Amino acid sequence: MHSINIGKMNKKDLERFFTRLEELLENIGCNGVDLTNAEKILEEMNIPLSEKQEFLDNCRNSGGFCDCEIFLNSEDSLREIYDS
Ligand SMILES: [Zn+2]
Repeated sequence: MHSINIGKMNKKDLERFFTRLEELLENIGCNGVDLTNAEKILEEMNIPLSEKQEFLDNCRNSGGFCDCEIFLNSEDSLREIYDS
């Protein structure tokens, strides 16, 4: 459905996201409720809103409902989605 999407995150963006999320989880921690840190990182990276929402949906759809669950549940699935 989004075969051509200029704003689409790529593999490199995803690695950058994971590295930054790891830092924030170490320094701030997870609130256990939502994807606050993830959202903050996507904003830092200037990811367009629609792409940001899609990414966060991809996290939740793979069991990442809070920031630490992204690493526990969503990492593999995200790597499959953003693999180029
Ligand atoms: Zn958590």
